[in-house]
Amino acid sequence: MVLAQLGGSISRALQQMSNATMIDEKVLNDCLNDITRALLQSDVQFKLVGDMQTNIKKIVNFDDLAAGHNKRKIIQQAIFNELCKILDPGKPAFTLKKGETSVVMFVGLQGSGKTTTCTKYAHYHQKKGWKPALVCADTFRAGAFDQLKQNATKAKIPFYGRPNGLRGNFITDFVMIDQELVYTESDPVRIAVEGVERFKKENCDLIIVDTSGRHKQEAALFEEMCQVSEATKPDLVIFVMDSSIGQAAFDQAQAFKQSVAVGAVIVTKMDGHAKGGGALSAVAATKSPVIFIGTGELTDEFEVFDVKPFVSRLLG
Ligand code: GDP
Repeated sequence: MVLAQLGGSISRALQQMSNATMIDEKVLNDCLNDITRALLQSDVQFKLVGDMQTNIKKIVNFDDLAAGHNKRKIIQQAIFNELCKILDPGKPAFTLKKGETSVVMFVGLQGSGKTTTCTKYAHYHQKKGWKPALVCADTFRAGAFDQLKQNATKAKIPFYGRPNGLRGNFITDFVMIDQELVYTESDPVRIAVEGVERFKKENCDLIIVDTSGRHKQEAALFEEMCQVSEATKPDLVIFVMDSSIGQAAFDQAQAFKQSVAVGAVIVTKMDGHAKGGGALSAVAATKSPVIFIGTGELTDEFEVFDVKPFVSRLLG
């Protein structure tokens, strides 16, 4: 179910409840069942939806509610609050300070939109007067450096990296994995450290490190991520997640969180056929806030994510 449909289903459920002549436990249950169904179809994790339903039933206790209480309002408010609660981990992301050097490391699976999002994030801050720089520590995917270079050049952001497989002047060995040319001997940790050091010297205040993804969660990916993290000591690790990955969102986000200190989430591809539920699951799994969403392939198709307006929109 795409985000707009999810919003439509939830507001329809609320409307049906509002139309009922009398609000009793059955009407509330019907409404909650409809909302539950809509959230599950949007890939919100099963447990989150179950917890939400239990909490709302606790808040809206018909025995305690005196006659004359506006039950509709109380139920609507409870649903709003519970949805906000899923999206609000209770602590904001680490606040970067303009003028002071911060290192931000991006992690996520290959294809999630990580490299694109690095440039979007840099561009967003550049427009606000920061001095960002991009480091390509993705030596796994052939073409990653060229992509970052192309994006960075277009957005006029300094970048650092090496074409895949080039170490000094030597082309290293390569293998074919999933029909992709993958070079085996490039050293992402070294490249990351070199890039960060260079841009610190150049007084950049936002040094963004793009790391390798893999097609799926695997030990080699997490090991490399940990090494880059230990070597560059990022102030913030951002987990980038494709909003269309479905029910896998929770487990995927949790696996990343268990390997590196994820402090914020960016959900990409919220345009088109995006499902909204993944965002809710990623927050719950990482206990980190969604800070931006990607809404297209272009550099400025990028929005700050605010919980309350997002949920208000969802409820219609
Ligand atoms: P990476 O492998 O994680 O670095 O992913 P890329 O940055 O190469 O992105 C994979 C594909 O997703 C590319 O075709 C991007 O243009 C596209 N993409 C990234 N973010 C968005 C987004 O917010 N919306 C849409 N529609 N496409 C996106």
